[in-house]
Amino acid sequence: MCLSFLCNKSQCFSRDRVGIQDFVLLDAYTSETAFMDNLRKRFNENLIYTYIGTLLVSVNPYKELGIYTKKQMDIYMGVNFFELPPHIFALADNVYRTMISETNNHFILISGESGAGKTEASKTVLQFYAVCCPSTRLLDNVRDRLLLSNPVLEAFGNAKTLKNDNSSRFGKYMDIQFDHQGAAVGGHILSYLLEKSRVVHQNRGERNFHIFYQLVEGGEDELLRWLGLERNCQKYRYLIQGECAKVSSINDKSDWKTVQKALTIIEFSEKDIEHLFAIIASVLHLGNVHFEASAHGYATLNSSAEVHWLSKVLSTDTSIRFSNNYALEVLSPFTAEHAKYARDALAKAIYGRTFSWLVNKINESLANKDSTRKTVIGLLDIYGFEVFDVNSFEQFCINFCNEKLQQLFIQLTLKSEQEEYEMEGIEWEPVPYFNNKIICDLVEEKHRGIISILDEECLRPGEATDFTFLEKLEEKMCGHPHFVTHKLADPKTRKTLERGDFRLLHYAGEVTYSVVGFLDKNNDLLYRNIKEVRGFTTVATQFKSSLAGLTEILMTKEPWYVRCLKPNHCKQPDHFDDVMVRHQVKYLGLMEHLRVRRAGFAYRRRYEVFLKRYKALCPDTWPHWKGTPAEGVQRLIKHLGYKPDEYKMGRTKIFIRHPRTLFATEDAFEI
Ligand code: ATP
Ligand code: MG
Repeated sequence: MCLSFLCNKSQCFSRDRVGIQDFVLLDAYTSETAFMDNLRKRFNENLIYTYIGTLLVSVNPYKELGIYTKKQMDIYMGVNFFELPPHIFALADNVYRTMISETNNHFILISGESGAGKTEASKTVLQFYAVCCPSTRLLDNVRDRLLLSNPVLEAFGNAKTLKNDNSSRFGKYMDIQFDHQGAAVGGHILSYLLEKSRVVHQNRGERNFHIFYQLVEGGEDELLRWLGLERNCQKYRYLIQGECAKVSSINDKSDWKTVQKALTIIEFSEKDIEHLFAIIASVLHLGNVHFEASAHGYATLNSSAEVHWLSKVLSTDTSIRFSNNYALEVLSPFTAEHAKYARDALAKAIYGRTFSWLVNKINESLANKDSTRKTVIGLLDIYGFEVFDVNSFEQFCINFCNEKLQQLFIQLTLKSEQEEYEMEGIEWEPVPYFNNKIICDLVEEKHRGIISILDEECLRPGEATDFTFLEKLEEKMCGHPHFVTHKLADPKTRKTLERGDFRLLHYAGEVTYSVVGFLDKNNDLLYRNIKEVRGFTTVATQFKSSLAGLTEILMTKEPWYVRCLKPNHCKQPDHFDDVMVRHQVKYLGLMEHLRVRRAGFAYRRRYEVFLKRYKALCPDTWPHWKGTPAEGVQRLIKHLGYKPDEYKMGRTKIFIRHPRTLFATEDAFEI
């Protein structure tokens, strides 16, 4: 191995221009200004990746950099982490090789706010494994299915928002399974809380899920005719509320073709595909079903064409019989408002269930039938933290999810790292950090958290409203440092709050939520059921337990991190907004992470493991060492010439300050 990173002349010469590749090596490492200077310098040179030890920081370039080619993959494949300029391929390769050599499970946590580049990063990692892992013809199709699950899920689960033209509106955790030879042999996807409300409502400047526009723009004439659809998005109520059915960065026509091809390769049958689009079309028809109030106050239905197509595409008998081909007034006990509500609830339910069905079908196709033991690399790509002018239940769930992931990061890095030094008796100056557990508790604590209070209100249909929910919050959360409302605020803050709002001081910043719709969205029941059902699990509680389940899955695996940063609000290339990036660096805890890394040790191994791996490098420890493992390691590293400041001996482990020491030891095998 070449230890080029130790004496990389080109890097020394150009250091002023391109900055430092690893923040750990920054001279003024505690200064935020130095950190920002380094990040900006590199961004201006199109160097979007920088390490903090093994954590990868990535800044969204908002332009194609030509750095994800096969040639680049070849360069990074099988090369030690710090030998080449930082890259997501280096991280992917390192995770993969560690998995193979240690036969254990790993996950890559990709985080950052909406539009920071998480989904792109997760696709790049998957691409790397698809291209670089050994394969056979048989496995080629597993590889293709893994890759092609992306465009399908993005079509159905992503949408244009004000923050991101391809924003993930569901959370995704994907396990890639590898056999003992390192070939990708299967996968499994877990999806989290799809933002279903988007099906029936979009804010100005936003769109519905991509698939609707793809179908209307790209669907073949014959298909549209069969589904009773016109090739004009403007005709469909559910597609035009955001007033931006066309987006310059999106080509719905060609995306439609990609999705069609992907569905075939994932082995959806023709029948499945037919049903899928019939259901999507039914949602569009449903959206156009129109109700008006009759003289008696009841809803009247004047949409015979839509109902006709609805029953046709869903292959159901319509219970409404028409006396002629036009319209018939149908008497119902609903008011027009109730009828519209029921229509929208049905559309959301249909779409939500279709999405779950889709994920299941993809999982069937990715499933590995062979029962031999596999190791996995998990990829977590979840909707990023988001703040809009008006934030509702959806943002509340999304931001809560981001709090939980930040909590996991804190637990696995800042907290556990420092606790481990303490446990191992390593001298250590503690690094203070903000622990967001207080916010997680505020939201999810049993009986006292916001979700519990919301659930209580949901169990009082007819009596409780969004506003009684707010009153209860005010009563119970009064004085909490991360919670404020109009009533609880000081006079200055009060001016910034409406009466129906509550504000949470999240780890990533303040977000003001409007309570309107909270009860309804948390119930998520088809109309009428609300009054009939008791003791059901609400949306927020389901989400809370699925996040707890995810945390459990992740805790059993070895973590790796990609922290994505968004350089500006306007999705522009070559524009580095200092204030905005500094804010993200702060809330993502990057400075604290750097301090812990810098003062700490990059590698640690239990004495037995370390000795087993390297004992052949010392005649005293090879082939058998008779003393304790700790003594063996002591003898071994003395023989290898480790300097006192390069390592520390803990109670059960050896701690190595810099990876280069370990690389040199690895290289000793080859000499
Ligand atoms: P959300 O939380 O809303 O899902 P996200 O973090 O997943 O956001 P992405 O969809 O990955 O964000 O990225 C937003 C856009 O930024 C992409 O559609 C792409 O245009 C651009 N982008 C992100 N990463 C890169 C990259 N590495 N190179 C070039 N462009 C990128
Ligand atoms: Mg995304």
